[in-house]
Amino acid sequence: MNTANAQAGAKAAARPIDWSERASFTCRLCDCPDLRLYYTLGNDHQFRYYRCTSCGLVNYDLAGGTEQGQYTTIVVDPRDDTNSRNHDNDQAFLFLQKHVPVPGRLIDIGCGNGRLLWVAKKAGWQVKGLELGADMARYAAGVVGCEIVANDFLADEPPPEDREAFDVVSLRHVLEHLPYPRLAMEKISGLLRPGGYLLIEIPNIEGWSKRWVRFITRTGLHKRRFPPDLMPGHCCEYSRESFTALMERSGYRVLHWETYTKKKIGNGLLNRFPVGTKARALVQRLPA
Ligand SMILES: [Zn+2]
Repeated sequence: MNTANAQAGAKAAARPIDWSERASFTCRLCDCPDLRLYYTLGNDHQFRYYRCTSCGLVNYDLAGGTEQGQYTTIVVDPRDDTNSRNHDNDQAFLFLQKHVPVPGRLIDIGCGNGRLLWVAKKAGWQVKGLELGADMARYAAGVVGCEIVANDFLADEPPPEDREAFDVVSLRHVLEHLPYPRLAMEKISGLLRPGGYLLIEIPNIEGWSKRWVRFITRTGLHKRRFPPDLMPGHCCEYSRESFTALMERSGYRVLHWETYTKKKIGNGLLNRFPVGTKARALVQRLPA
């Protein structure tokens, strides 16, 4: 083999994955130092996710970098009942209404186009939104007809009238993007009254299709191809176990947990058998 071929061969075989690898940092939920490589993203396995052996949280190695600007979505009119992009919000509201039937004050963190606020307002809730994107916030506020503040709820302090003032805080597909879950929960508690409810949607890392992909990738049955410019957005990945650990540590208790997918079909089953790739939970802040 000539030098060039030897180098090419070495490159092709470069960076074999050592699945016994441990993280060089501690768990961001429970501070446990024993975090084991769980899966990777990127064509060169350069983005690494480690599972905590104590609480089960999957911690992304933040040293790999993140990109959170990629989630700015196409704007869909929140009043459009026929647009399928609004249906996830409708499912979330039905779930809330089933368990919290009496309307109160609701704040949706990361409210996007404001669809949840729109349906909640029609049902008699007093609603407010927070949204990172200033353009989206302005659009949604105008269409829904409620206050939507463009801010970063982790960085900005709520106004005094909002402190522990809401009956429901909703946070849908936001928690997994936040690197420090305990800080996120402190911020939520700054808005939610004791005894109030938290509506959460997150990916379910133990959903069956996610397990399957991890299995075939890890055993070499399948080589995943990633876009060359991929940057992860998820900083923490949750299962029912690690989510419950975070809630209990933060002074909350999980009342309901169900899974679902974007497809409507089969959701009745996934709600009962929690193997779906997305999870929805209702959690109560313990009364003071
Ligand atoms: Zn942990």
